Amino acid sequence: MKLDILAFGAHPDDVELGCAGTLLKEISLGKSVGIIDLTRGELGTRGSAVIRDQEASTAAAILGVSIRENLEMRDGFFVNDEKHQMEIIKMIRKYQPEIVLCNAIDDRHIDHAKGSKLVSDACFLAGLMKIETTVEGEKQTAWRPKMVYHYIQWKNIAPDFVVDITGFTDKKIEAILAYGSQFYDANSNEPESPITSKNFLESLNYRSRDLGRLSGVEHAEGFTVERYLAVNSLGDLI
Ligand SMILES: [Zn+2]
Repeated sequence: MKLDILAFGAHPDDVELGCAGTLLKEISLGKSVGIIDLTRGELGTRGSAVIRDQEASTAAAILGVSIRENLEMRDGFFVNDEKHQMEIIKMIRKYQPEIVLCNAIDDRHIDHAKGSKLVSDACFLAGLMKIETTVEGEKQTAWRPKMVYHYIQWKNIAPDFVVDITGFTDKKIEAILAYGSQFYDANSNEPESPITSKNFLESLNYRSRDLGRLSGVEHAEGFTVERYLAVNSLGDLI
């Protein structure tokens, strides 16, 4: 199955927090979108890997993505080496996305920057035909996505461009709240963490409004890039 956009996250919920509005909008425009989670988020302060699996599949249904897979790398301890790169390369060649979205280049959680570089490096390597991969006995063909964009999650990184997600924020929050074990819950008896505060939950809305305010739209999500963005015409920009 070929996809237009493949979004990677170190943990289930990273993609929702970073770029769910953009994915919802692209799907509404007819694009096919998939999500690959690198780990099951088993070290998360609240919940468990099994609960996160269920939450991730509920969120995927809310978003309307075509596929969601989990590579079951070790939460907190996966590294950017050949073994892990090869796993990502196989996913990129399997789904042949034009665009890859991945974690923020720098963030509070160490897995985010690691996952960001791992996926980005694998996108480059996936295009080298002398790196051979086989899936279920079938040799894969080389594939390099046209663009790799990094979404923004915990830290306020200055975006290189933003996507207008006006009209998709309610659904975005719905997908995030599918991770009921992870975020603010006045009735929870589980330990607190930086992402369980009410402020964090509210920050999802105020950040998208602020990026929107600065861009002349109501709500926006920001991304950073690894090379200059090009447009055909100045009129392409909104
Ligand atoms: Zn994360």
